[in-house]
Amino acid sequence: MIFLDAAATTPVRREVLEAMWPFLTGEFGNPSSHHSLGGSAATALADARKTVAKVLGCRPGEVTFTSGGTEADNLAVKGMALARQAADTALNRVVISAVEHPAVEESARYLERFHGFAVDVVPVDRAGRVTPEALAAVLRPETAVVSIMYANNEVGTVQPVADLAAVAREQGVPFHTDAVQAAGWLPLDVKVLGVDALSISGHKLGAPKGCGVLFVRGRTRVEPLMHGGGQERGRRSGTENVAGAVGLATALTLAHADQARRAGTVVRLRDAFITAVLEGVPGAVLTGHPVDRLPSIASFCFPGTSGESVLLELERQGVVCSSGSACAAGSDAPSAVLLALGIEGEVAQTAVRFSFDASVTAADLEAAASAVQAAVGSVRTLGHMPG
Ligand code: PLP
Repeated sequence: MIFLDAAATTPVRREVLEAMWPFLTGEFGNPSSHHSLGGSAATALADARKTVAKVLGCRPGEVTFTSGGTEADNLAVKGMALARQAADTALNRVVISAVEHPAVEESARYLERFHGFAVDVVPVDRAGRVTPEALAAVLRPETAVVSIMYANNEVGTVQPVADLAAVAREQGVPFHTDAVQAAGWLPLDVKVLGVDALSISGHKLGAPKGCGVLFVRGRTRVEPLMHGGGQERGRRSGTENVAGAVGLATALTLAHADQARRAGTVVRLRDAFITAVLEGVPGAVLTGHPVDRLPSIASFCFPGTSGESVLLELERQGVVCSSGSACAAGSDAPSAVLLALGIEGEVAQTAVRFSFDASVTAADLEAAASAVQAAVGSVRTLGHMPG
């Protein structure tokens, strides 16, 4: 099997599992317990926090461990908006981009449904980019928070986060970015990015599913979503997932250590794959930004097919990938992200995403490009209809 669905998830790295093992077995303590087992768990958690902080260029106290990217996004968007509104009732708008992951988009919609917020959606261009001008145009004195992702999970487009964050800062509005797909591939220094909050998920990086991080700058107020024992400095109650935090910190450090080299290698392989697919499949269209895209994502539309049929045919040939995003898989609706890029619904339903981790090889991608050519050809011949 050639696994080209790393944007959906990745296997746990051996070094990560080894780092976690003690905290799943002998050192199983609860970090809040006042005995030596609890003490060693608390120390491991503190060390994991310091490790994450080092990669992000922030203070350990600015790192909150969560149950994953979804919770980090929810805590950022809802938590910052509600805290700001509690301090100033005039703040009743949130800004998101038109290509956010549902974890951000649905958090904003929740604020709209239950807390009287209005949601302002910044449009993207045909490459999926938000421009600083487009963001400036939707900011209002009532804007409580802005959330714009670092890199898109469906088409891989990278946003000019530092420029966008600067626009929000000028207006005094806190800026959150979902860096779930960017982590491991792009620089994550929160000072350079100029963001007030940033989300990461472990399982996209070689750590297990169900662990994530939210960075929140300094004294930025965040209303907690989980109430209870006051763990994570009151930001996120619940007994901490110590092994998960250790695993995430290890995976993040490993990915960060050779980020530039890995990204360079995978970009070359990705570009050769894109060329092979565009040359081998008549009518194939690359979606997303041609250059400012994640090293790890190549996404296409294959007009005259359906993405689901191509996916099934590819799997029969031993290539595993995804149609649109994992969350949209199995649904007939065209991807909202592709529609936001101005792609017609019928064409959007023919989308297929190939995503790579650092272990991908040139031989894998050559074989995959031939399989794509064959799969699209056979779906077109058999006349599968969209949907
Ligand atoms: N944000 C983006 C951009 C993602 O791609 C994902 C996962 O697919 C998430 C958030 C959610 O992360 P998690 O699966 O850890 O909840």
